[in-house]
Amino acid sequence: MRPPVAKEYGIMALAKRIDGKARAAELAESITRDTVALLDEHGIKPGLAVVIIGEDPASQVYVRNKKRTAESCGFHSVQHTLAQDVSQTDVLQLIDELNNDDSIHGILVQLPLPAHLDEQTITQAIEPSKDVDGFHFVNIGKLTAGHTSDAFVPCTPAGCMLMIEDELGSDLSGLNAVVIGRSNIVGKPMAALLLQANATVTVTHSRTKNLPKLVAGADIVIAAVGRPNMVKADWVKPGAVIIDVGINRVEKVIDGQSKMGLTGDVDYDDVSTVASAVTPVPGGVGPMTITMLMANTLRAARLSAGLEG
Ligand code: NAP
Repeated sequence: MRPPVAKEYGIMALAKRIDGKARAAELAESITRDTVALLDEHGIKPGLAVVIIGEDPASQVYVRNKKRTAESCGFHSVQHTLAQDVSQTDVLQLIDELNNDDSIHGILVQLPLPAHLDEQTITQAIEPSKDVDGFHFVNIGKLTAGHTSDAFVPCTPAGCMLMIEDELGSDLSGLNAVVIGRSNIVGKPMAALLLQANATVTVTHSRTKNLPKLVAGADIVIAAVGRPNMVKADWVKPGAVIIDVGINRVEKVIDGQSKMGLTGDVDYDDVSTVASAVTPVPGGVGPMTITMLMANTLRAARLSAGLEG
């Protein structure tokens, strides 16, 4: 018999709210301390170059946040803003220059790209040792092979994994994890990380049958779909840990007024009556993603000096 859940007693929230903002701030503090030490002891300042192409408003916000966070961590931070109609040759030339610039340890090209540019050619042109987004096939291969000592793990799943470890420890032996979504930037690397931590992993997607039934068997659920409030309490195993990656722009009623706001793939209030811990949107996975980019850049700088790996 399953244990009674809070909802059945009229209790609205039971689950712990996993505070990604606070966790990210704590992590950023330790990155800043390590950055000072790297400069003092080895004369190296981590350098992050962010390339943004075109005028996509959401990308502008993300890039501004990344630059601000890099500066607050004490990094050398460079932004290259290229016109919407820039040629692929010019983008590749810039990446080549950054690959050969010793003051730059991490390179990131903000996605999505304008339609005339080939995303794969551009992301694969970044030197794997500077690929702090973890999108290069060399880094994907190392992650899949469980060889992460000198690989870069994509920032969103890396941040999710830290939050899962905070709740459940670093060894997930005997636990079932269901990843909803199989994208290259979230679902697949998330599954690889969970597997490496000994979880039993099921990866689901739009062609999966009986998704609620699969989720019901999971001790850990990662939702990375892009469908607002899809995961409901009656899908969730009592006591499960729920990580909501989704970012969906929806109309919300705030202070009696209808406004555009963000919501996740998980119905937070509903699921909180059953789960043991849930990440909110906003304030969960998002802040962790940016901070993991800083962690990867610091690591790239340390690896370049032979201090890790
Ligand atoms: P994506 O590339 O569009 O992938 C979505 C995945 O969801 C696909 O694998 C798709 O299956 C699956 N899917 C779609 N409908 C489904 C359904 N009804 N049932 C089960 N699976 C379904 O998206 P993404 O880049 O992984 O991002 C996912 C979400 O996370 C988005 O909301 C995005 O904005 C957000 N995100 C947040 C962060 C952050 O920092 N918080 C970072 C990255 C992404 P198929 O493969 O079969 O099409």
